[in-house]
Amino acid sequence: MTTFPRSFVPENADLGAWAQIEPSLQRLVARDIGSPAELERWLLDHSELMACISEERSERYIAMTCDTADKDKEQAYLYFLENIAPRCKPYIHALNEKYVACEHRAGLDPGRYGVLDREVEAEIEIYREENIPLQTEVAKLAQQYQKITGAMTVEYRGEERTLPQMAKFLEETDRGVRQEAWELVAARRLQDREAMDDVFDEQLALRQRIAVNAGFPDYRGYAFKSMMRFDYGIEDSERFQGTVQELVVPLSRALNATQLKLLQRSVAGTAGDATAAGQAGPTPGVEIEALRPWDLEVDPLGRGPLRPFESSEDLLEGAQKIFARLDPELAALFASMRAEGDLDLDSRKGKAPGGYMSTRDEKRRPFIFMNAAGVQRDVETLLHEAGHAFHAFATQNEPLVGYRHSPIEFAEVASMSMELFAADQLGVFYSPPDAARAKRKHLEGIIRILPWIAQIDAFQHWIYAHPGHDRGQRTTRWLELDEAFGPAVDWSGYEAGRASYWQRQLHLFVHPFYYIEYGIAQLGALQLWLRFKHDQGAALGGYRSALALGGSRPLPDLFAAAGARFDFSAATIKPLVDAVQEELAGLPA
Ligand SMILES: [Zn+2]
Repeated sequence: MTTFPRSFVPENADLGAWAQIEPSLQRLVARDIGSPAELERWLLDHSELMACISEERSERYIAMTCDTADKDKEQAYLYFLENIAPRCKPYIHALNEKYVACEHRAGLDPGRYGVLDREVEAEIEIYREENIPLQTEVAKLAQQYQKITGAMTVEYRGEERTLPQMAKFLEETDRGVRQEAWELVAARRLQDREAMDDVFDEQLALRQRIAVNAGFPDYRGYAFKSMMRFDYGIEDSERFQGTVQELVVPLSRALNATQLKLLQRSVAGTAGDATAAGQAGPTPGVEIEALRPWDLEVDPLGRGPLRPFESSEDLLEGAQKIFARLDPELAALFASMRAEGDLDLDSRKGKAPGGYMSTRDEKRRPFIFMNAAGVQRDVETLLHEAGHAFHAFATQNEPLVGYRHSPIEFAEVASMSMELFAADQLGVFYSPPDAARAKRKHLEGIIRILPWIAQIDAFQHWIYAHPGHDRGQRTTRWLELDEAFGPAVDWSGYEAGRASYWQRQLHLFVHPFYYIEYGIAQLGALQLWLRFKHDQGAALGGYRSALALGGSRPLPDLFAAAGARFDFSAATIKPLVDAVQEELAGLPA
């Protein structure tokens, strides 16, 4: 049974076949609209068609990522990307123009349609036919970046390993192992430093041309408009950077200092034990004089990794218990996902890496994909993606597909808040000391990531504000920013690695300017968490009513509905970092 039956798109239409999609698009373009009511009907039909097309794409993507060995599934997805999506674009532009030109738009409720209007107007404003081939070029260069990074491997312990596979060696308690693994990866990246710079310079020139074609002096203004950033501007991003530098960088560096102290103590402790057992005493070479880049990920007390669960069924059961403690309705939604098969959690051969939540826009149901391997990160991922899934459920009854999705700055509030709400319930997976350790890891992660987000954002702003810069100037700027935001580590001997460290951040190449969203959302999530600590019921109530708004309101309204402020000043951020500090102070090391 379909909960949301079609009324415009033919029931049996194949949304993977252009010949069956185009007639519906043509009917929308050609339709006479004689009243505001008919315009609203037109918008609903438009939305239904877009949801059907979007669902086709999602289903093909899900099928491909769940079974990468099946070439037919891969072909089906690529076919859609190459043959369906680009052909839709000119129609979507024509539909936007038809909507904006419609005289009956004046008769619609601006409170209901204001957000839609500004988005459609922005799309039309920046649309340039001559930019389409340039955008394809930039996208190809982004693929080139991914190809270069994807091909990077190192030879370690007799095996060829990818760089993501090398990450686990940075958690090894043997410092020599960490250093060797880190050096191998850094040296491998440096081999392609020039190639990456070449890709980036080409992208930069193309992006500048795209911006100028669309009437902007540089790419910043174009990027903000194309990303639909209506509720904050360049100065607000700079305020975010400044506040993070002032309030969060000192805390992140204090964590580095503690890490160093604990590592020094555990080395001394080990050496002492060895002496007691009648072996050689500590040698000067064993002492840790400074924190190095390979010392950041290891547990400073020498403990092994956290092991929250064995099977993905255990993970599901644990998450189910947590949601039941938080809110019976959320628990019921999660149970319905399990019953409907809307989750694929197991890591297995032939499955794409990573994790995501995807909404099937016609069914209006979420799907969660991840690769559970039995580590704490998996618990965080499932809680995070479940937050996104609750968002999808909350907007089910919104008829306009565009309004069923919120901007990323708020979508990530839904997911990050769920991680924080669950932070005191990790006992379902752990003994009390391990639950405390997992919570510490999570909160410290927030303190560490905010400076990196600000650093990447500041770097991008500088890059696109200075389109004629050369590589030397770019490096100088990056190093200045690393002084301002980076961790307190000793890079001596690895200066080239430090100077090109930004090349690791995929977003710079693939999604320019897209990164601060995670920082903004984290500020929202921390505000909800603070509220949650004082009044769980009120916080969850605000969470659910804000989620239900989807993308139908501007960002400040979405934040306000959740009881949070959309503001990047110290007045908002200080109480949040204070609360995190206080919470950390109450946890064992
Ligand atoms: Zn997310």
